[in-house]
This record gives sequence, structure tokens and C-alpha cells, in this order.
Amino acid sequence: MSDKQVELNEHGHELLAWSDDSRHDVDEADHYVLMADAIRDLLIEKGVIKAGDVREQLEFMDSRSEDMGARIVARAWANPDFKERLLANGTEAIKEFDIPMLDAELVVVENTNEFHNMVVCTLCSCYPRTILGMPPDWYKSKTYRSRSVNEPRAVLKEFGTDLADDVAVRVHDSNADMRYLVLPLRPEGTDGWSEPELAKLVSRDSMIGVSPATEPATEPET
Ligand code: FE
Repeated sequence: MSDKQVELNEHGHELLAWSDDSRHDVDEADHYVLMADAIRDLLIEKGVIKAGDVREQLEFMDSRSEDMGARIVARAWANPDFKERLLANGTEAIKEFDIPMLDAELVVVENTNEFHNMVVCTLCSCYPRTILGMPPDWYKSKTYRSRSVNEPRAVLKEFGTDLADDVAVRVHDSNADMRYLVLPLRPEGTDGWSEPELAKLVSRDSMIGVSPATEPATEPET
């Protein structure tokens, strides 16, 4: 057994660090935060990275949001050549937006009237963060990760997406090497719209595949 660290409290009673029950209150998230901090400090101490690298990376990730993805989808809707390139090689195609994929490849999957695509990471929380920003909490939850592969239609229904029986669902499991982006169906009544106008109809959830793109608002009655 390891050495006991014996400390005394204000009443002179022994406090045993390793048997102190209050330490069990630390939840799992805190544990991983502590571990991440320790690893970062060690990498800096060993000269593998600099403290500024961590800050720069955090700043970069904070600057990402689903607006990037919405611009990509809008261009694919508006420009058939771009759409073809995007579906053939997502990683290459998004370079024209100056969006890096870092170490992962981007695979873009297109929703059609026959197929509906949805994305999950069953193992952890892999997500195209440089395109959509940080994933929502539900995406990282065990419930979504397990249910989206076991009963995707039921999950979609809870998101308000009720698919017709003749639409097949394809669930894509992301991993460290492969990130997926759903190209939602272009809403009806948007012919001739500009890319910035189209982009406003593209929600984060439609690019994860749990909801359709937003329908254009009908003209207000005058
Ligand atoms: Fe993951």
C-alpha cells in the first residue's frame, strides 16, 4: 500500500487523503478536465508545445460556427459544379472557403427524396468542428450515440423530423479520421436565391441530419 499522507484537521483528527470520501464527489467531467490540464502542462514543460499554441488553437475553435457550414451548403445548392466537387471530395472542395479539416477527411452526404442521412459518433464526439463549431451537448450524450443507430427514425421524430416510410435512413458513424456533413434538401420556393439568402435557411441541425433545412417564410400579408 502506498504511503499514507497523514494530515490533521482543526480538531486534531487524522485526514487520510486517499480515503477522504469527499474526493469521490468529483464527477467524471472534472476528472477529465484535471487530466487534460495535467497533460497540457507536461507538454509545455517538455517543450513539445508552447502555451501560446494552446491559446491560439482555442481562439481558432472559438471562431468556428455553423455559419461556415451554411455557406458551404448554400453554395452547393446554388452551384451544381461546386456540389459535384463537394460530394466527390469534401476535404478538397472546402479549401475554397479557406476552411481546414485539420487531421480528418470530410465526407459530404446528400439528402434526397429517397435517402435521409444523419450523423453520429457512437464512440465519443467526433464532429466537423472547423465547419460547425463545437458540437451540442445532445450530440455527445450516450442516449443520442446509442439510439441514433438502434432506432434512428424514433430519434428523428423526437427532433420533429417525421420521415415518410419510403425514405431510407442512412446513419453515418464519425471517427477521428472521417467527419460527415449532411447536405440537406434545398427547400422549395427558393429558385434564384443568392448564396447569402440560402445560407439563412441552413441550420446546424440540418447539417447533422436531425432536421430539414428551414422552409422559407411566406410573404407577410399586406
Ligand atoms: Fe468521436
